[in-house]
Amino acid sequence: MAEETIFSKILRKEIPADIVYEDDRVTAFRDINPKAPTHILIIPNYNIPTANDATEKDEAVLGHLVVVAGKIAKQEGIDEKGYRLIINCNRDGGQEVYHLHMHLLGGRPLGRMIV
Ligand code: 5GP
Repeated sequence: MAEETIFSKILRKEIPADIVYEDDRVTAFRDINPKAPTHILIIPNYNIPTANDATEKDEAVLGHLVVVAGKIAKQEGIDEKGYRLIINCNRDGGQEVYHLHMHLLGGRPLGRMIV
């Protein structure tokens, strides 16, 4: 079993989060420290710690993250102008929470890359 993170507590509704979408596979909520007008985290409902830990059995849920990101982007009204999806991995990737998550960032021009 992967170790618990703060995101497990959010999934169990033990700590509050501004949840914008949830289904049986993934949950999405606003980042507590937003880096753009829209900054939402989309996470699997079970813990895959990092992208390195993803296996074939996770493929459907990981694909679903992208499908849900598109739906939320539409909900947020940023689908036409555009947005960025990011998955950080480990220390050099800037990962702080070891429950794999996709950042959905938008609502302003983001430049070519975030460094
Ligand atoms: P990472 O750096 O791991 O890719 O991103 C982790 C993100 O989780 C950060 O952007 C951080 O602001 C966000 N975060 C950390 N703790 C919490 C929390 O308790 N609630 C919410 N909503 N976001 C959090």
